[in-house]
Amino acid sequence: MILIVEDEIKIARFVQLELEHEGYEVKHIVDGNEALESALENNYELIVLDLMLPGLSGTEVLRRLRRVKDTPVIILTARDRVIDKVDGLDTGANDYMTKPFAIEELIARIRVHLKRSKEGNSRIAYGKLVLDASARTAMYGETEIELTKKEFDLLLYMLSHKGEVVTREDALAAVWGFEFYGNTNVVDVYVRYLRSKIDDVFGITVVRTVRGSGYIVK
Ligand code: CA
Repeated sequence: MILIVEDEIKIARFVQLELEHEGYEVKHIVDGNEALESALENNYELIVLDLMLPGLSGTEVLRRLRRVKDTPVIILTARDRVIDKVDGLDTGANDYMTKPFAIEELIARIRVHLKRSKEGNSRIAYGKLVLDASARTAMYGETEIELTKKEFDLLLYMLSHKGEVVTREDALAAVWGFEFYGNTNVVDVYVRYLRSKIDDVFGITVVRTVRGSGYIVK
């Protein structure tokens, strides 16, 4: 979902229609305060942010958002002075477009930033242990860890649910699919494989057993 924060209704409507036509889901908010609140509450894929807004200015929305989140932000504004551009990028904007703009260019830039953030998001780290979900590699520091497909999938699933207790049934359904349902010791077996390839080798504890419930990555 893409968020458009823009108080000029005509522009917002136009951008929204074009993006929807491209297949994106779009939400439009007029007010700066409301936009910040919504951006903090939801995980937007990208935000198109006007600077001159009622409530909170776009710059302030961005500044406060950046304390907690790195949602890609494209600033869209009538101001075209170089100093404003530098300010916006300093505050943490990923890109900057001035009005009037060609919608094709905005859409092209949105596409680039979505792709970039997707690639960035495909990496998940646990200390020095880094999994890349698109390249399907597991590294500990500079050392590559050889994992089978299921070992990788299980570790990825566990790391993406960090802080939550994962039951054997959850892991089984997510990694092996429902055809294995009922045969939950396969999860224990694979956790042992992972421990022998990672914990035992590098002297760390990744997947912990939660007695009577399942497993957790803390
Ligand atoms: Ca405005």
